[in-house]
Amino acid sequence: MATKIPEAPRVGMVSLGCPKNLVDSERILTKLRSDGYAMSPDYAGADVVLVNTCGFLDSAKEESLEAIGEAIAENGRVIVTGCMGKEAEVIRARFPNVLAVTGAHQYEEVVGAVHDAAPMPPSPFVNLVPDAGLKLTPRHYSYLKISEGCNHRCAFCIIPALRGDLVSRRPDAILREAEKLVEAGTKELLVISQDTSAYGVDIRKEPRPWKGGEVIPHMTDLARELGKIAPWVRLHYVYPYPHVDQVIPLMAEGLILPYLDIPFQHASPSVLRSMKRPANEAKVLERLKKWREIAPDLTIRSTFVVGFPGETEADFQYLLDWLDEAQLDRVGAFRFEPVEGAPANDLPGAVPEEVKEERYARIMEKTAAISAAKLQAKIGRTLEVIIDEVGEEGGATGRSQADAPEIDGEVFLRDAGHLSQGDIVQVEIEDADEHDLYGVPLA
Ligand code: SF4
Repeated sequence: MATKIPEAPRVGMVSLGCPKNLVDSERILTKLRSDGYAMSPDYAGADVVLVNTCGFLDSAKEESLEAIGEAIAENGRVIVTGCMGKEAEVIRARFPNVLAVTGAHQYEEVVGAVHDAAPMPPSPFVNLVPDAGLKLTPRHYSYLKISEGCNHRCAFCIIPALRGDLVSRRPDAILREAEKLVEAGTKELLVISQDTSAYGVDIRKEPRPWKGGEVIPHMTDLARELGKIAPWVRLHYVYPYPHVDQVIPLMAEGLILPYLDIPFQHASPSVLRSMKRPANEAKVLERLKKWREIAPDLTIRSTFVVGFPGETEADFQYLLDWLDEAQLDRVGAFRFEPVEGAPANDLPGAVPEEVKEERYARIMEKTAAISAAKLQAKIGRTLEVIIDEVGEEGGATGRSQADAPEIDGEVFLRDAGHLSQGDIVQVEIEDADEHDLYGVPLA
């Protein structure tokens, strides 16, 4: 008689917050899948729903609480994990019926809670996990998390309190994961952490065997090896420590993308001091200039906070002037928002909301103009573009090397119906606006 494989319990997942949280969700799902669980795309079909929360800002916390409420209303059997897990009492006060609350990176606890809530199928037959794990991103790009936590204590941030000090992953484990992702179809690796340039400071003296040699846990060495594995490697959350100079030649050689995501947050020395920002040094502009001499196509993306306590009109004007000089390619701006538990909340000199709004509008206007001019200069050039989506009427959407998914611009293509998602093609740029490019693939 044939063995009947029992039906696996189904798990639904709601993943909120940043790419780092998305990677955590992927890890949890991968483990559950390898334990035999099935995934449910909707609330109705799920035996239990996991909500992976974000607690970075008060607005993100509120969004997390709303997501928990929705999952409880729609399904009723809910496990909460992620950054808001630190505030279990807040969650339980509002939703006494949640089955379990676990914190960020508590993979074993969250998986254990799922086992308790929807016991594992008593069959060892089901093992459908691809080698690269389960992904929430499209097949052609993947986030690669290289460390957890952060050794800095920026005044506006509670990440170190939520996630602890920096803990680096072993370089050989990261490289093996990268290989599996590429074998499974990934063309672009997005390296993420809280502080990518600090990678390895905690395990610097522990090189690991790799491909007949050794790999040192250092950003430059890791980037070089990753560059040999994936066609595109993009570095996020890099602070401009002096050793960042060493990765620029790798960009000039084409080993990694000429792209750096550096969250400067401000330029005025006094604001940076009160923010307690790392790598806060005066010579950044000179170094940007040198980097661009070595890798002329270098794209620098950054984020800035306006209205930080104590920011004067002179500080803000300093920032605008600095941006004129720095000519950053991509900029996101935020109005300062006090996060519960952040030391910045106790600083004097709160900036009135209307002043924050006004400064926000001014910085957006400035950076949009810089971006538009930079994109105009690309008209007529041929750029390498990765295809994200092919439309039905011959169009396609992709990204140039200067564009990270979700946060930067796009390249809209005509006459591109023959292309497939994940293709990397040469594109002639025909037009541009403030944030996006338009072009046609070359034969
Ligand atoms: S570098 Fe600063 S902002 Fe970034 S995670 Fe660390 S403490 Fe937070």
